[in-house]
Amino acid sequence: METILGIDLGTTNSVVSIIRDGDISVLEEDGRKILPSVVGLDPEGSLLVGFPAHNQWTLAPDRTVRSIKRKMGSDDTVNLGDQTYTPQEISAIILRTLKERAKRLIGQDISKAVITVPAFFNEQQREATREAGELAGLDVVRIINEPTAASLTYNTDPDKLLRLLVYDLGGGTFDVSIVQLEQGVVEVLSSHGDTQLGGDDFDQLLMDHVCDKFQEEHDIDLRQSPTSKSRVLKAVEEAKIQLSFDAYVNVEEEFIAEKAGVPLHLKIEIARSDYESLIESLLDKTLVCVDEALSDAKLKANQIDRVVLVGGASRTPLVHRMLQEQLGQPIHAEVDPDLCVSMGAAIQGGLIAGLDLGPVLVDITPHTLGVQCIGSVDGIRSHYCFAPIIERNTALPASRSEVFSTWYDGQDIVAIDVFQGEDRDVRHDEAVGGFKLEGLADVKQGNEILVRFDLDLDGILTVTAVEKATGLEEDLTIDNAMSRFRSDNHESAKARLDAAFADAEMVEGDQPQQPAAEPDDDLPPELKQTIGKANELLTQANRLLADANERDAEDMQELIGQLQAAIQARSAEDINDASAKLDDLVFYLQDAT
Ligand code: AMP
Repeated sequence: METILGIDLGTTNSVVSIIRDGDISVLEEDGRKILPSVVGLDPEGSLLVGFPAHNQWTLAPDRTVRSIKRKMGSDDTVNLGDQTYTPQEISAIILRTLKERAKRLIGQDISKAVITVPAFFNEQQREATREAGELAGLDVVRIINEPTAASLTYNTDPDKLLRLLVYDLGGGTFDVSIVQLEQGVVEVLSSHGDTQLGGDDFDQLLMDHVCDKFQEEHDIDLRQSPTSKSRVLKAVEEAKIQLSFDAYVNVEEEFIAEKAGVPLHLKIEIARSDYESLIESLLDKTLVCVDEALSDAKLKANQIDRVVLVGGASRTPLVHRMLQEQLGQPIHAEVDPDLCVSMGAAIQGGLIAGLDLGPVLVDITPHTLGVQCIGSVDGIRSHYCFAPIIERNTALPASRSEVFSTWYDGQDIVAIDVFQGEDRDVRHDEAVGGFKLEGLADVKQGNEILVRFDLDLDGILTVTAVEKATGLEEDLTIDNAMSRFRSDNHESAKARLDAAFADAEMVEGDQPQQPAAEPDDDLPPELKQTIGKANELLTQANRLLADANERDAEDMQELIGQLQAAIQARSAEDINDASAKLDDLVFYLQDAT
């Protein structure tokens, strides 16, 4: 069977895939699947394509061409050294590089290709893309829309009518398409977008934020120096990507400027929550496009079977949250958002070559993994709130961190109780393990605790909790964290957790779904502290319950019930009374064991 290349010729990056032995294979060289869509000349005039060209861009913009895709189909030309090139010629250099990569890796020259283009590309732009392919020595057997290609990787049941919303947020462009798949026919029902919106804009906002802070401190605007500006821009792009995984990042650049002969270093910590406030209004714009695309396709959100993410910037956690909230359903990013367009093009190539292909299989988390905390459940503050850390359908391996904070002054312990499931109330989810971080600094409430989840391909989850201010750290490894939720365990899990009233508690970080003012926020600090201590006691009591004899267990249950009722009534006097009694019994039982 002949092989046809599937090529995603992107604005920022390009990728090539093929079907090999019935499976999709993204062609990787030097450990990299992505080829930056950048072409340049080195100081000696030799051609550079991909990473080497990308790396010299900030230093030699006159010898480097980026984002040529934006010019496809126009009469514009670009200069490179002393030569002038058309957009088709620059694109042809990128395509030829990918063709040669395929030849090196497969050991044979492949000339047929399916190339993808944005759904909004007009005829001239498509024609220019075809011409670029021909200049690169390719026989372009088909040009297909990017959302169509992405949809093909999610086509799990070819006989079923499937409607997908493909949300594609790249470096420089955003588009959203409603795609319908039925009996092997793929149709783009509607498409909307903004050709000037993407991850580059997020970099710009973050750079301004960092430069403003530096200027406040040192009275120097780093944006005035092209070299400093490009260094900051590169650093904030890396920081932005890291913020998709971590709750905090540091932006550090040494010797970035000089004042009165003294070198100045840049060192700024950025919280994900601050970054999210910066980009939220841009993401709001994308949601308006989503509404427009749905209305053009005459569909409601609940008629969409799947929401699929494409493009590097779609990995931003806030994108997931906002879309999920707007559309009221989980979103899918199981197939790598950077690679799925090229993979879909390869599937299309396989179909043209007559292959019978199944759906793309990837390793994903079947359930959301997170921790228990105090937060909002159905608008009411609860001790049973589930704070997701790794969302369902995330491709593996996956690493994410979130920030939480202590609930009362002087809190010296937090419980990290890990759950899997989709319910906002942990009592309806499955407990998978837990541990405590003890010996926290004696500070006011709001002491920040970073919780990090690292989940590998074998389903082994490492949970790490760190007190941000001191670096105090504890971790736990849980095997088989992805085991399926067993419904027969559901009721017993619920009963067990009902009995075990919250552990030593922490509150959710800066999560948007949490109402601004909660009833508990108004509690006097002393009462909060009393409740916090009572909860610690309840945790201890519940631990001892398992080993207590029948009579002691009965007494313990009774006292636990009294203390829980007192906590619920928010009566400091009753809490203290019940705590004293329970404390005596805990003391006695601890001594006895
Ligand atoms: P694309 O045009 O699809 O290749 O997307 C490139 C854009 O995605 C650039 O702005 C990257 O900085 C951004 N990007 C890549 N990975 C991530 C990530 N993990 N989180 C947020 N943005 C990312």
